[in-house]
Formats: sequence, structure tokens, C-alpha cells
Amino acid sequence: MQVRKEIQVAGIVQGVGFRPYVYRLATDRKLGGNIRNTAAGVSIEIQGPQELVEDFVSRLPKDAPALAQITQVSVRETACRLDRGFEIRSSHTGQHVSALIAPDVATCEDCVRELFDLRDRRYHYPFINCTNCGPRFTILRDVPYDRPRTSMSGFPMCEQCRAEYEDPEDRRFHAQPNACWKCGPQLEFWNPQGHALAASDPVEAAVEHLRLGEVLAVKGLGGFHLAADAVNAAAVERLRERKRRVAKPFAVMVRNLEAAARFCDIDAEARRLLTSRQRPIVLLPKIEGAAIAESVAPNQRDLGIFLPYTPIHHLLMAAGKFAALVMTSGNLSEEPIAIGNREAVDRLGGIADCFLVHDREILLRCDDSVVRHSAGRLRQIRRSRGYVPAPVRLHKELPQILAVGGEMKNTICLTRGNLAFLSQHIGDLENVESLDFFHDAISHLSRILEIEPEIIAHDLHPDYLSTKWALGQKGVRVVGVQHHHAHIASCLAENGVEGRVIGLVLDGTGYGKDGNIWGGEALYADGGGFERGAHFAYVPMPGAAAAIHEPWRMAVSYLAQAFGEDFLGLDIPFVQRLERGRAELILRMMDQRVNSPLTSSCGRLFDAVAALIGIRQEVSYEAQAAMELEMSGRSSCETAGYPFAIRRENRCWLIDSSALFGAIVEDLRQKVGTETISRRFHNGLVDTLVRLSRLLREESSINQICLSGGTFNNSLVFEQLICKLESDEFEVFTHSEVSAGDGGLSLGQALVAAHSSPS
Ligand code: ZN
Ligand code: ZN
Ligand code: FE
Repeated sequence: MQVRKEIQVAGIVQGVGFRPYVYRLATDRKLGGNIRNTAAGVSIEIQGPQELVEDFVSRLPKDAPALAQITQVSVRETACRLDRGFEIRSSHTGQHVSALIAPDVATCEDCVRELFDLRDRRYHYPFINCTNCGPRFTILRDVPYDRPRTSMSGFPMCEQCRAEYEDPEDRRFHAQPNACWKCGPQLEFWNPQGHALAASDPVEAAVEHLRLGEVLAVKGLGGFHLAADAVNAAAVERLRERKRRVAKPFAVMVRNLEAAARFCDIDAEARRLLTSRQRPIVLLPKIEGAAIAESVAPNQRDLGIFLPYTPIHHLLMAAGKFAALVMTSGNLSEEPIAIGNREAVDRLGGIADCFLVHDREILLRCDDSVVRHSAGRLRQIRRSRGYVPAPVRLHKELPQILAVGGEMKNTICLTRGNLAFLSQHIGDLENVESLDFFHDAISHLSRILEIEPEIIAHDLHPDYLSTKWALGQKGVRVVGVQHHHAHIASCLAENGVEGRVIGLVLDGTGYGKDGNIWGGEALYADGGGFERGAHFAYVPMPGAAAAIHEPWRMAVSYLAQAFGEDFLGLDIPFVQRLERGRAELILRMMDQRVNSPLTSSCGRLFDAVAALIGIRQEVSYEAQAAMELEMSGRSSCETAGYPFAIRRENRCWLIDSSALFGAIVEDLRQKVGTETISRRFHNGLVDTLVRLSRLLREESSINQICLSGGTFNNSLVFEQLICKLESDEFEVFTHSEVSAGDGGLSLGQALVAAHSSPS
């Protein structure tokens, strides 16, 4: 008996080889019908003997191509018709668009093979791609995803490319960026003034300059990279100096897994992440004595490492035979990554000695993602290229919301139905360039996702540029969300947790409801609201922002709290080195409450300890002191921990660090090693948090606990705490799909805003 069915498939099913897959699924079974792209995904009609049609329907989601992400399949019976076999029909446009856009995908193995195959017509072609790989998000101008709406629109396909593009049996069927030497984009080698230099092979030219220790600016997928030979200390120094990046670690690109294993300890999980189609930078433990310049990642035990993900990278790494290349964002310090050729010359001309550019436009900037594997799961440190704009699946439907994130490591989030779309990493909204990027990301993402927000969610901090932008929008409801509530809500959203939880937030800075700077918080929270259950005892931050850049100020603040002004008589190196005049000035500032806001920040506590034990007095990038303190602690096997007091005040628990500082000072007097002290601090903090969690569980009968906040990027705290909480039978929820730091904030803001009622 013949039957005919109509099937609607929603999700990421366009531009990922889904239609040829369906074509083969149908023709293998000799079924008739057709498939076409629709605004929501694809629509299929299928006709044939009942059991074959049923087999087709059940196979459809199961064997789908790796890049496809099916969110919904609906099937309905329809009347039989006459087909001429199975055909692929052209897309309909102009309707409401809800099909999902695929992220950029690393060059696939088939394409790499062709790239290095002398007989292939795309031998060494720097823009080779197919339906299974290549640029997507970063070349997209509008939806639906079709060549004319990408930056490939200016490159009409040659006859051969067109034939591949139109052949359902071909790997390049409807591969929108399909191109070759004859018809596609080309590389050029430029000098720092932006003049093209004659080079028969621009890649070879670039390689020669890299070998001389020069800095190369190379146009990638989501922006320019600055590259230098990672083994050549002078080259790396030069890059640091010119980029004005004193100490923040650089990531390195290596040719393959074998090369990676020469620098880092690599296990099966690391191998999987390094070769995943997202190709993120993976943080891995550096091998002792690895042949890499120390200045690549000074004072770090981890190295950020990644594999080539575009044909240009493959060509560079193969031609240069580099052990490792520093590949860092093409920007000055914290500015956004450069994407245009002229823009790059303007902004990077003083940094790079030469440029490897091309004429395929990058329409959306997108930094490399940074991840690590910790406590059994993937952890996003910076979720960007390769992951964006794939949505985070929510467990319930939300109205259309725009959440604008915080100030640092900003991302925005748009919601539609049960999907949350986080933007790429936008960065710190402190300079004009980042703010422009922030505006662009909002307008571009809402356009391609066709979301018109009914609500805009923002942080409570009145001075954040994101807050100011939100408050300036007319005709929509605007909702302010407390920073740490948003952190916990982000964890609730990604894990689909309903009901009230204990939310442990270990964080740097967030505007508190009492006007103080919060940061080490335990909240009783759900999507709708929160109560403060505990926090780190307040200490003054002498000099406000200056105390963030100069951790020694925080050490003075904590010492003064623990010992009073008597601390100036302590016989420990920190005090002996302290400039009396400056210390007294700071004590007076705190006394008179001049420019000394109160904080319960966890990050500042780490800073204070790092300064006190001589690890770092001033920082050149965010969280530097805390990271170095962690690295130091990881070098020790110490199991003992320092004491912290937990006391009750105003219906709230307080973690008091006075006893901690007493114990550290005693150890410093006894000349206990830095690494041991650092480890005892970590151990003590974890034990205290477990103790606190039990107290909170006792008083609330809540057993579900969410961990969020930037300090959880510290794997020593993170892994120990999870382990101890779980063995104490807490149900622990953490982040995996989005960052625990401020990069995940916008997701939580959206969830809280969805719970808010119009007033
Ligand atoms: Zn491919
Ligand atoms: Zn061609
Ligand atoms: Fe935060």
C-alpha cells in the first residue's frame, strides 16, 4: 500500500548537508517526493510502500549529518500524488525565519586531504570547504543562509564549482561558500602600510618572515590573529611589547595531536576537544621543560593550545613546520579583534611586520573559544567561535527577551521559545570599539534570529554601559537583575532546574542591593528572586578600582581588619617591604571611608592572599594574582587547610577571614613555603564553603546547590568543592554550556526577566 507523509524538521538543518542526506535516504529506498528549505528548517514530502516510508521516518533523525541539530520533527499523513522520483526544490524566502544558523566549522578531514593532494584541483587552495565544514556564522549577512546573503556573494561560481554545488551526490551540494582557485577568494601578502607585495606564494612569504622572528597578522575566520614563532623567545617578546600585553598568557597553535603532546599532557578527553569541529583553545597542563618560550604563558602551569581550523592555518603550519605558533587575537590589549583588511592595517600596522590577508569579508567578528575539561565535563571559559550561534536549550518557553550582560567579558542573550542564543564574546565594554561591537551584535543577532524583544534585561550597576544602553531603549519593558542572582539563574537555566536552590557564587565584582560590591555570596534563589543567605564579611577596598589593579592594597585592608594598625609591626616580608607612607595613607583612607567601598568579593580575597605571600603586588590583567595563586597551590600536595570563621549577623551567615590571616602570618613567620601556604588557603576555603553549605541546608532543607561565578575557573577550588559537596550528598549543578564567569551572565538575566511581572 502506498502512503504519503509530510514531515517538518526544525533546527540546524540548513547548510549542513541535510538535504543531500535526505535525498540519499529517499533514493536508497526508491521513495518519491521532495524536500525544500523553509523558514523553520526543511519540509519533506515522502511517498512509497508503508513499511519503507516508516523506516525512512524513523531513520531520519538518527543518521542525520554530524553538523545537523534537530530540535523538532512533526509528521502528518497526506494524500498520495504522482512524483518523478525524489527531488530537491529551491528555498522559499520572505517568510518568518526561525531556522537555526550553524556556527563556523573547522576544515573537515576530507577537505584537508584534498588540500594536500597534488592531483586535486584545490591543491593548496586556502579557502577549500564543503557541506561538512567551513565558515557559516562569520560570513552571514542575512537569513536564510544562502550564498547571495553571505560575503561569498561577490564570487560567482565557476562551471566546475557550480556543478558540484548542484549535484545532490556531491560533498559540495549547496555548500554556500564553495569555491576554487578559478572563482573564489585569494590570499595576498602585504607590508605594514597595506601595500600588496609580489609573492608567488603568499603563504610561503608569510612563513619566511615568521621564521625570521617577525610578527605576522593573518586574517582568520572571525578576525585577524597576530602570529609569532612560539619557540623564538625574542619573537614572542616583540609581540608582547608591541601589543602592550605584559603577561597575559598567549595561546599557541600546533599542527596536530602529536605536536600538541610535545607541549601538554593530553588525555582522551583533551584529544576529543582539540579535534572537535569547534576547535576551541583548550587549556591543558604544560609539560615540564616543554620547548616553548617561557614568555608565551609566564607563571602558568597551563597552556592554551589549539589545532588548525581553516585551510590557511593548515597551509601555514605545514609550510613553516613550526613546532608551535603563538596565535593571539589581532587587537591592542582589550580592544575587539580586527576583521577588515584596511581596519587591520590601521590598527595592527604598529604591531605586525607583515600581513596575510584575503578578499573574503568577515561580516561578524568572533574570537576563538577557550575551554577546559574539568570535573568530568567541558567547561566554557570563553564561549565564542564554533559554538555561537548554536542555542542553549531551555526546559521551558520564554518570551522574546534581550539580556545585555554585564561590563566585563560581555555577551548578550536573545531568547525565543525554549531556545537561548548567546552572542560571541564581546569583551570589556570600556572602550568605544567594544561598545560599537556590542551595538552591532545586538542588531545583527536580533535580525538574523528575527527576535523583537518584549523585555530587555540588564545588570543593576547604574554605570555599566550595557545598563545605560538598556535604560535608553523606548517602548519595551526593562528589567534590572542583580549580578549574582543572574549568575545563579544562568546555572538554573542551563541545567533546567526549577525551584529554590542554594546558589554559591564566587566572583569578583557585582553591584549589590545594599550599594556595596558583592562577590562571595550564598543566595537562596530561583528564577523569580533571591535572598542573601551568607556572604564574605565586608572589607574596605582602599582606592576602589585601584585596589583591583594593586592587590597589595587588599592585603593591607585584610591585615588591618585582622590585626588593627598593629599589623605594621609584624615581622613578615610583606610588611617589611611596605612603604610606610603609602600604607598609612591607605589606613587613613579606610578609616575615613574615603574612596573605600565595602566589598564581599571572593576575587579580592584571592588578591590579598597572593600579595601577602609575595606572589603578586600589582596585576596587568584581570585575575592575574588569583591565577598565579592557584598555580602555586597546584604545585603542593598539602592537605591541611586554614581556618575561617562562620558567624551569624542580621539573619545572614558571614564568612570571616580574620583567623585565616592570623594563620597565614604565623606560617610566614615560620618561613613555610609559598606553595604550601597557597594550598592551605585553597583547602581551607573549600572546607569552609562545604561547612557553610551544610548550615544553609540545615536551615532551609534545600539540597540542590548551584555553583557559579568567575572564581570557579579556578580548578583547584572547583574540583575539590564539587567532590566534597557530592560526597556530602548535595545535588550539585554547575556550568558546562556557558561560562561560569560574566560571559554567562546574560543567560541568567534573561531567565530572571522572564519571571518578572510588569509593574
Ligand atoms: Zn570539508
Ligand atoms: Zn570554482
Ligand atoms: Fe560576575
